[in-house]
Amino acid sequence: MALERSPEKPYSFVPLPERAERGPCAGHHLFAAGTETGSLECRLALLRPVQVAAGVLDLIRGPRGEEHIAALPAGVPRAGRRVYVVPGSSLKGALRSLAEAVSFSCFGVAAPRVRGHIPEPLRRCTRLDRLCPACRLFGITGARRESYMGSVHVTDAELPPDGKVAVVRTPLLWTPARGQRLPNLYLRGRQLRGRKFYFHGRAAPGPDVRVALPEGESLQATVYFDNLSPGLLGLLLAAMGLHPAHRFPIKLGGGKPVGMGSLEVRLVAAVLRGAVAAGGRLGAGERRLTGDELRRWVAERCRAAEDEGLLYREGLERVAAILARRGLETRPMPSGPY
Ligand SMILES: [Zn+2]
Repeated sequence: MALERSPEKPYSFVPLPERAERGPCAGHHLFAAGTETGSLECRLALLRPVQVAAGVLDLIRGPRGEEHIAALPAGVPRAGRRVYVVPGSSLKGALRSLAEAVSFSCFGVAAPRVRGHIPEPLRRCTRLDRLCPACRLFGITGARRESYMGSVHVTDAELPPDGKVAVVRTPLLWTPARGQRLPNLYLRGRQLRGRKFYFHGRAAPGPDVRVALPEGESLQATVYFDNLSPGLLGLLLAAMGLHPAHRFPIKLGGGKPVGMGSLEVRLVAAVLRGAVAAGGRLGAGERRLTGDELRRWVAERCRAAEDEGLLYREGLERVAAILARRGLETRPMPSGPY
């Protein structure tokens, strides 16, 4: 009797490092020596429809005049109209989970059923003088006074004024293993398999109607950073898929298991702000890096991430393999339960 083959899972796991590399955060009260402060001007090239839902449903009309109830994407009010966005908080969250996976970082956020399986050395950071690289970049909410807002801030990426939203039909999705204990496929023995990431793939069609930002659109986003060592900056760049030897598009928002949410971060420029001491009260002005100078700067920062012992190479290689761009064309995503 032939066994029924279930479709391949649309995700894989990045193994956990054995330890977290903890140290103090630089804080926000001064420009710390040996660190950099500035911004990364980026374009988000949408390789698949991207939907960060607003939690609002509306009736929309389909191509044949039929009406559907669909989830609307997040938006912000601008001059009396609603501008749809990829919220900065969503991009920041996606970058954080990638930064955790490619560095010696703690397992910061975990569902209650996962928490008990996290290895002791990777339990979430709780003290400001002992923060892992991801917590130094993106902050923590801790007990008593041990909270830190992080050194990375991301703007909302707005759909341009002439941009149109897209109506996308996807398979229905359910919460994985709803109401059950941790499914065995997340564990090897008693050990967690690692951090879960979805592959890029071909969009699977289905009956669920969503309104999304369309494939092919390009949005502007700025990532601000302050007081980052060259290595922490390199880690941030690697998490954005910009490590010269390990480039990959990232995934974000809803519908990741069915092929949505793929986007490429393209770095247009890095703007570095000088120390106040070097140029008086208003600082030493700005230095804007583009082209070859920018490429060299990125490569040097990524090397520094390794030199400073922050970059978990095995994790980065695995992330780059899971998020390999060729999956967009070659990998079918499941259109039914998997
Ligand atoms: Zn941490």
